Amino acid sequence: MKCKQCNEKAVFLNPKLCKKHFIEDFENRVKETIKEFNLVKKSDKIVVACSGGKDSTTILYLLKKFGANVEALSIDEGIVGYHNKTLKDLKGFCKEYKIKLKIYSFEDNIGKKLDNMIDKKSLPCTICGTFRRSLMNKYAKGYDKIATGHNMDDESQAVLMNLVNSNTDLLNHSVPITKKLKGFVQKIKPLYFIPEKEVAAYSLLKGFNVNFTECPYVNLSFRQGIRDKLNSYATRQMKTNILRKHLQVLSVLELNKQDYGKCSICGQPSKNKICRACELAKNLNKTKGRTNQ
Ligand code: SF4
Repeated sequence: MKCKQCNEKAVFLNPKLCKKHFIEDFENRVKETIKEFNLVKKSDKIVVACSGGKDSTTILYLLKKFGANVEALSIDEGIVGYHNKTLKDLKGFCKEYKIKLKIYSFEDNIGKKLDNMIDKKSLPCTICGTFRRSLMNKYAKGYDKIATGHNMDDESQAVLMNLVNSNTDLLNHSVPITKKLKGFVQKIKPLYFIPEKEVAAYSLLKGFNVNFTECPYVNLSFRQGIRDKLNSYATRQMKTNILRKHLQVLSVLELNKQDYGKCSICGQPSKNKICRACELAKNLNKTKGRTNQ
């Protein structure tokens, strides 16, 4: 199979491109998203939320390559056999590319590793996501934006999950750039229109030392079911359509206009007196380590 732009062997089938043209095409499409949604300003100090996996490593690499002022931030949830491996890769990557890396853990902030918070009744991803988002926002203070490696598959799954669960409040999270809200560091997602398979191919072709191990809790997540269903029928174009239509609907609904106060325990933005992370920590009887700011 030949590349559609030259006579070299294609390394990817949709789009049918050789290594050189696939890499060029991939990088151009990420640049287009950055430009279309005005994700990055020259003066921005950006922190990339890194797990050490393919998606966040790719966006860390590309933002640096495109000339952005980037640093890396990782939250170690405390999942044995998973994040300890990816963190090792991330440390090596940041050293190689001379990128400043900061790592914070659930254990230091909440008093326990995720592995030790799980019981038969708990949904690991709910606990993990709530604490990770809270800590990420806390430690990203002082930066203009948090860049995440969410790709087209992640985002189309998130839109469907939130519709199925009637979580209309959360639909405004699935956007290439979040609105400026008091207390929140703006989030950007330059891989928003890039399919997961292409991010995997790009990271392999670039020779990034990333681990493809999946989190051991992924099979317990609601997302996994949605992911399997979506992948069983949705083409790349259908996933693009989901996201484009979602953005059109959001622009009409203006769901992003929400007022947040401050959590009375940790000071993070919250619609209630106590934020979800502190509420959860209280329920887990582990408020130790969460301090007012
Ligand atoms: Fe956390 Fe769930 Fe992701 Fe694992 S799959 S890292 S538990 S959100």
